Amino acid sequence: MSNFSYKDVYIEEGKRVLEVNILPEKYCNFDCIFCPIGRSKNKVDSPISFNEIDVDLNELDNKIEETKADLIFINSKGEALINNKIDKIIRFIKNKGLIVRLLSNGYLLGKDEYKKIANDCDEVIGEIKVITEEDFQKIQRPIEGYTLDKYISNVALFNKQYNGKFIFEITIIKGYNDDEKSINELKDIITKINPDKVIVSRIEEEIFKKKLGISDEELQKISKELLSYN
Ligand code: SF4
Repeated sequence: MSNFSYKDVYIEEGKRVLEVNILPEKYCNFDCIFCPIGRSKNKVDSPISFNEIDVDLNELDNKIEETKADLIFINSKGEALINNKIDKIIRFIKNKGLIVRLLSNGYLLGKDEYKKIANDCDEVIGEIKVITEEDFQKIQRPIEGYTLDKYISNVALFNKQYNGKFIFEITIIKGYNDDEKSINELKDIITKINPDKVIVSRIEEEIFKKKLGISDEELQKISKELLSYN
């Protein structure tokens, strides 16, 4: 049985995008209180071997044929980089002449072995969700020893040497990073990271929306400010 799962193909800037999850269940180095996938039973940051990759790659091959995808977006149940076959998966997609986009929360991009893997992707998305150390520990609950400073510098140093398109996704969370002071700090973080593109998002899951979500107007206002800054 395959470990992979897929979303329906959609069109983005004229390209057919196929999203693939390459983890059999949630594995992440964070345990965010608002995670749409639920709690992190498997809080890890070392490579894990799942079963043989051939079945998964065969299925991916068929999906690509069937959907005529142009871009494969590795968007997993947690941190995709911990699948120890991710380098093979990326190579497989690249050998088919397709574009690879990888979503990572970004912390592991500071480690050489993961940096090397991400460097093979055409596009990498890294994220930020809070801007104080206290909030990072409290609501993102990372592996012990992680710090927000290191998180930001891992992403910044990765992008300094990365030749692909680096997309930086900032999630605005009510009460955590939606005030003026936070927006200014986010601008400083954008300067440090120097991404090719910034995406501003908000908490969308129904169960967290009331407490942590921001309104359409606020999202529009903050997006305008942060996007014009990039
Ligand atoms: S980093 Fe993403 S996948 Fe990991 S716990 Fe947080 S929200 Fe969930």
